[in-house]
Amino acid sequence: MTSLQDIAQQYVTLVLAVGQHDPDYVDAYYGPPEWRAEAEATPRTLTDIDALAGQLQQRLSSLGLQSLARHDVREAGLLGLRKVYLTKHLAALRTRIAMLQGHRLSFDEESQALYDAVAPERSEDEFLRALDVLNHAMPGSGSLLDRYRAFRDRYVIPPSALPAVFEAAINMCRQRTLAALPLPAEEQFTLEFVRGKSWSGYNWYQGKFQSVIQVNVDLPVHIDRAVDLAAHEGYPGHHVHNVLIEEQLVRQRGWVEFTVYPLYSPQSLMAEGIANCAAGAVFQTFERLAFERDVLFPLAGLDPSTATRCAMVAIAAQKLTQAGTEAARHLLNGDLDEEGAIYWLEKYALYSRPRAQQRVRFITQYRTYVINYTRGRELVDGYLTRKAGGDRARRWAVLGELMASPRLAGSLQ
Ligand SMILES: [Zn+2]
Repeated sequence: MTSLQDIAQQYVTLVLAVGQHDPDYVDAYYGPPEWRAEAEATPRTLTDIDALAGQLQQRLSSLGLQSLARHDVREAGLLGLRKVYLTKHLAALRTRIAMLQGHRLSFDEESQALYDAVAPERSEDEFLRALDVLNHAMPGSGSLLDRYRAFRDRYVIPPSALPAVFEAAINMCRQRTLAALPLPAEEQFTLEFVRGKSWSGYNWYQGKFQSVIQVNVDLPVHIDRAVDLAAHEGYPGHHVHNVLIEEQLVRQRGWVEFTVYPLYSPQSLMAEGIANCAAGAVFQTFERLAFERDVLFPLAGLDPSTATRCAMVAIAAQKLTQAGTEAARHLLNGDLDEEGAIYWLEKYALYSRPRAQQRVRFITQYRTYVINYTRGRELVDGYLTRKAGGDRARRWAVLGELMASPRLAGSLQ
């Protein structure tokens, strides 16, 4: 008799099989090594993988969950979410196969199929209003882009100070996370500085509660990125999320589908949405400002008396991150070419030209993945606020529960 567990196991082998065709697809895998060896030894064609995924979808949809009635409400809820998780991940896997075979969807169709969500379209007016606020916050002559860039340049972490600043930021985020969420004693990460990537930071989960966190130093790293990256990649972002999945879903329940993480899948929206809410879980705005001013600014040799203004400008510029998603929408829908997208990012997101070029490379490589940061953040933040309101202890508890559950974007609203 087919069970969810059988289907989960076959799903994992299909993800590993797609990984043979797409080097970015399998972001992490720490299940049985022989399954990966098997995928490498006997590669399947995309057409065969798609047909097998189709059969698996049918078996999954005909699988009754009457047996759930034997479980308590929370358990039954989790098993129901597990079935939805497998259903949506199989559908996303088939979409990715179609894309690898050259099939193209519109921006919204692709994000819905891969990530279970659509990013509402933002108007240029919205960005113009945010730019106006920044314009007033930054008096002087010259274009806003020039003034903004000159202002930001004053807050670059000198390369020699990067390790100390990042270690301090990660230690503080870790300390505060551990006080709120119990984690296994073995959890650990390694920090590396790298070059030549289209992203600014990456967490590579290794299994056994270990991560490698990489920070890209191709472009200048600004002081506010230290807390952002420490929380997003580490505590309580990707590293902690993966640790809780391994501890509670893989080891305690044996849910093998969580030993593999396909990058182009609904799990990514949860991962990036949670990671983008991570800094807000660790610090309230004033606490973060005090930590940056009193600890990180001196470590970076920056003037602490200007930390408040730096933070205020960063908060005002936060609204412009949505302009990055719109640049991706226009580029992928064919309304803008690469040069047009770079210009859009300079104009509405106030990116320097090298950063805009890096972002366009990211969009070309990862496509609608970009909505996971912006739409993911909105959905996860909305969920936490609905469940916990302003109660911080409750918010940590809801966040911890969300990280160790198969819940996807469609059931966050
Ligand atoms: Zn991330």
